[in-house]
Amino acid sequence: MRKQSERFGTTLHTETIQKVDLSSRPFKFWAEFDDTEHTADALIIATGASARRLNLPGEEKYWQNGISACAVCDGAVPIFRNKPLVVIGGGDSAAEEAMFLTKYGSHVTVLVRKDHLRASKTMARRLLANKKVTVRFNTVGGEVTGDDKGLMSHMVVKNAVTGEEENIEANGLFYAVGHDPATALVKGQLDTDAEGYIVTKPGTSYTNVEGVFAAGDVQDKRYRQAITSAGSGCMAALEAEKFISEMEDERETGPLDGTEADQARKGDNTVVPEYRTNPLL
Ligand SMILES: Cc1cc2nc3c(=O)[nH]c(=O)nc-3n(C[C@H](O)[C@H](O)[C@H](O)COP(=O)(O)OP(=O)(O)OC[C@H]3O[C@@H](n4cnc5c(N)ncnc54)[C@H](O)[C@@H]3O)c2cc1C
Repeated sequence: MRKQSERFGTTLHTETIQKVDLSSRPFKFWAEFDDTEHTADALIIATGASARRLNLPGEEKYWQNGISACAVCDGAVPIFRNKPLVVIGGGDSAAEEAMFLTKYGSHVTVLVRKDHLRASKTMARRLLANKKVTVRFNTVGGEVTGDDKGLMSHMVVKNAVTGEEENIEANGLFYAVGHDPATALVKGQLDTDAEGYIVTKPGTSYTNVEGVFAAGDVQDKRYRQAITSAGSGCMAALEAEKFISEMEDERETGPLDGTEADQARKGDNTVVPEYRTNPLL
């Protein structure tokens, strides 16, 4: 993919960006450990989101050897087939992941720290009615242990009220305790929702700042998959290209009239743009 981008004239820089200033165009940004100010006419923010971990004892050792933070991504792998699995979390994601895992595991135990589920009523009802699922309320996860192949085989579960502990058989443990979108860089500069995800105009990559686009998990709390991220990255690239082309047009021929400019910039224009900088066209 890298080679293909380079073949089409992209210059790639591998840097951590420590600061951006989106208050005026061209936008400014600075790399880590470097005070040099760089500028950009358009920016695509695609910094991703990380799944929260619980740092249980044994987590490092069995991460990706039984422990995962994505049932949809990892649930179908052979080590989980017809095996007892555990999900930690009490929200909609936990309920969805647990029900998804019933297709593969022999049984799914859901550990819920509180005495109730946070999931919507419908999801909670479906989860509790599923014969392949046991929900253990007031229960938290403890140490994860494994077999001689280095795969997870057991974990401790602890009653949060009585403190009673039990070592249960579990060949898979899936965290469903939320994600943290990597939005520190644009905090206070772009609109984000209550969970910190960048808000984009539905069906587009447009943010509230003209010329700044967002793609991938940093703006998607629903699907969070490689293919959906790649798709939204493509949308953002096309929209950024269109934005820059229109800026260049304006420089040459003067500004568009008010309505045209508004539509072009805010993603309302459904006309397929012409990508003049694409070397194939
Ligand atoms: C364990 C696991 C397994 C998965 N398996 C699958 C799977 O099988 N199939 C599937 O479709 N999806 C899977 N996913 C989901 C998939 O990985 C994500 O949906 C996808 O990677 C999101 O792409 P993204 O580009 O938005 O973010 P990321 O892939 O997270 O990329 C963000 C990038 O931005 C960089 N970055 C962040 N901040 C800065 C900064 N300040 N400066 C410079 N760079 C920065 C990061 O270093 C990173 O390289 C899995 C996820 C996990 C956690």
